[in-house]
Amino acid sequence: MITSPAFSGKRYAILGLARSGMAAAEALLASGAHVTAWDRQEEPREALAGRAEIADPLTIDLTGYDGIVVSPGVPLNTHPIADRAAEFGVPVIGDIELFAQARADLPPHRVIGITGTNGKSTTTALTAHILEQAGLPCRMGGNIGLPVLGEDPLEPNAKGTGVYVLELSSYQLDLTRSLACEAAVLLNVTPDHLDRYNGFEGYALSKGRLMAMQGSGQFAAYGCQDDTTRTMREAEAARRPRGLAVCLEPHQLADLQADWPALQGPHNLQNAAAAITLAEVMGVTRAQWEPAMKSFTGLPHRMEVVCTHDDVLFINDSKATNTASAAPALAAWPAGDGPRIHWIVGGLAKEDGLGECEAQLGNVARAYTIGEAGPRFAELLEGRVPVERSELICEAVKQAVEAAKPGDVVLLSPACASFDQFRDFEKRGEHFRQIVGAITGCELPAGNEPSLSSASLSSASLSSGGGNK
Ligand code: ADP
Repeated sequence: MITSPAFSGKRYAILGLARSGMAAAEALLASGAHVTAWDRQEEPREALAGRAEIADPLTIDLTGYDGIVVSPGVPLNTHPIADRAAEFGVPVIGDIELFAQARADLPPHRVIGITGTNGKSTTTALTAHILEQAGLPCRMGGNIGLPVLGEDPLEPNAKGTGVYVLELSSYQLDLTRSLACEAAVLLNVTPDHLDRYNGFEGYALSKGRLMAMQGSGQFAAYGCQDDTTRTMREAEAARRPRGLAVCLEPHQLADLQADWPALQGPHNLQNAAAAITLAEVMGVTRAQWEPAMKSFTGLPHRMEVVCTHDDVLFINDSKATNTASAAPALAAWPAGDGPRIHWIVGGLAKEDGLGECEAQLGNVARAYTIGEAGPRFAELLEGRVPVERSELICEAVKQAVEAAKPGDVVLLSPACASFDQFRDFEKRGEHFRQIVGAITGCELPAGNEPSLSSASLSSASLSSGGGNK
């Protein structure tokens, strides 16, 4: 665990004791801080009883507190904690800010920060994989589901300065004030999480905080494939020396992509460009990253191959929770002699309309609408592609198996959050895999959970952990 003398004798309140909140509590306690902790569930409160004061920060006198550590799952725009903290002049922070404050006392190291609307987890896992394969000591954490404070700090290492690779959601960035990453990337900014922000501009500003916190001599890369990211790069380039706020150039890698089995599709070329750029900034050479790109196995629930049955391919892309992330999946199997994709779409919609999926409808052989947004998607799609109002994933898979011809693809890429029917996107993806297995009888790949290697994963397992998944 990461501890720091900077917290010793200080007083913190923690609101939200899921994975990252609990890691913050343990790190602060081990650092000698006084902790007041709260969660609406009893179990995590009990885990801290006797070691921390158990009380809701909304109801206590916050005079003398040094910070309120809030879970990224708490909507700061509507939750009363923001006003309450302001009343007492106490900063509202998150676990990433605590990590930033602990940095000064850690052995020499560097930090990579990765944000964007889509592609963060893939880029984070890939970057950590490249660094590890190149022999650089590294830890992976943040929104990818591994609270950074729970990890063992990197030791000084003869092979070079170690690197913390952090996936940062906009919610985490809202709670971070002083993380100056040696290298950062903003992959893309498209509409998402608008319930938590004052419009799209507020959301984009939140993403931009990653670079705003950097010093002008630190490195930043931008996806530059959407207008917002391009504009944000121009603004940062104006305040930095030449070459320190760059656009990624994925097209330069296009000839190599065929050799990277887990990184297919145009979106993954962008993620690959980001990871390679970041790794090169850390000193990794082409001779080191080339083999790492080939050996990367990808993450579950992102364009994951479930199986092939009767020459029909089944793909689990449950992680596509908005239209901008479902669109690349629809683009991955272009209509040749006719559309081939049987698209399972719906859930809890984050926006109205088909967004970037609109342009890919020519690849859709038939759509199967599910979940709360199912009827709305059916309305939008009817007359343009054949539609089944399936409601449930099991119904959708059954109908798709009946309709699919050899060479077709049955694709769960819902373009919606999962919370209407599932606990999270992982549960939705697992459900899909099981249904496919049960209906087709095909053998599912064993242990289909992430195969990210050793050092960076420490003891934690990978899942969403209170982030923005
Ligand atoms: P995040 O952690 O930002 O949610 P993931 O790497 O988990 O991103 O990918 C989420 C979804 O977004 C997947 O369904 C994937 O197909 C899609 N996706 C991944 N990278 C990109 C990208 N660079 N641009 C657009 N969509 C992407």
